[in-house]
Amino acid sequence: MQDCIFCKIVKGEIPSIRIYEDDRVLAFADINPITTGHTLIIPKAHAADIWEISAEDLTAIAAASKKVADAIRTALAPAGMAVAQLNGRAVNQVVMHYHMHLIPRREEDPELPMTAWELKPGDMDLIRQTAGKISAAIG
Ligand code: AMP
Ligand code: ZN
Repeated sequence: MQDCIFCKIVKGEIPSIRIYEDDRVLAFADINPITTGHTLIIPKAHAADIWEISAEDLTAIAAASKKVADAIRTALAPAGMAVAQLNGRAVNQVVMHYHMHLIPRREEDPELPMTAWELKPGDMDLIRQTAGKISAAIG
């Protein structure tokens, strides 16, 4: 896609720090890292989000995430790692080209914001009803 910054990274039109690639996906360093080692994995074919990406590209992203996660563990020995992926402006997706974040955290790093939600018991009727709607919609 012409005006997409991550498509430009795929084509080499703007610089990136490449970590891994194959015919379907590219992994590169996030330039505003939340932690040391913060890495993004994207499909080479433009897709905005999880609803647009093909099952084949999503499978390739999953396989690459395993490779890169293993390498992050070997290289950086983090205490843990968050895997995050945002879909839509409503959840603060900023770059509208699908990307999976790998965010390793060392013990001494601050808590990652997206892992710090509070657990509150839900309304079991609503939980059941909503789960039923979702499972009924699976094609
Ligand atoms: P989000 O869309 O909120 O999931 O996050 C977009 C991510 O892309 C942010 O973490 C940015 O730091 C990162 N980002 C934006 N532009 C670049 C770039 N040119 N190279 C590497 N990372 C980028
Ligand atoms: Zn794109």
